[in-house]
Amino acid sequence: MNHCDIPTHFIKKIDKKSQLLKKVDIIPIEVLVRNFFAGSLSKKFGVKEGTQLSDTLIEYCLKSDELGDPHISSEHILNLGLCDFDELELIDEYSLRINDILRSTFYSIGINLVDFKLEFGICKKTDELVLADEISPDTCRLWDLKTNKKLDKDRFRRDLGNIEEAYEEVLNRLNLTI
Ligand code: UDP
Repeated sequence: MNHCDIPTHFIKKIDKKSQLLKKVDIIPIEVLVRNFFAGSLSKKFGVKEGTQLSDTLIEYCLKSDELGDPHISSEHILNLGLCDFDELELIDEYSLRINDILRSTFYSIGINLVDFKLEFGICKKTDELVLADEISPDTCRLWDLKTNKKLDKDRFRRDLGNIEEAYEEVLNRLNLTI
């Protein structure tokens, strides 16, 4: 993402399990970016999972384990002072650009990006808004383009089994090593 002009908290990889990151104040919202109906959106509107949305949809949840991460609107975010208007505009802009990048990357390896979650933070040193999250099968819905096989955390959530194989398949198709 850094190479695509999306500033992130990532500085460098230290080893298999560690990364050096910029220190940020996390904005306490989860940004959900959706291309297809699935999960909570399907349940809420009674629309079959896998139905394409007419346009990319951005939703927000308040990061609060106590409250069960409730869905909130942009008005809630601004009213509660979770971030300011300009920051929210930038969050939306980055989220849509990240979606474009990820969608085409996954499409090129035969995977449909159904939806994903992002978090952002303000860099303590520079005051810059940065993406401050992992992007992985834990935080995305990734379906095989041909078979619709789930290659993401829903294998765990829905007790479908073979979760490690699915994650490895994504890794292999991306031609990445950890
Ligand atoms: N998601 C996540 N962490 C969360 C909530 C959602 O990574 O705490 C991801 C989830 O994996 C999916 C997308 O955000 O790719 C949209 O999730 P949804 O609201 O449908 O959540 P569900 O209720 O189905 O977990």
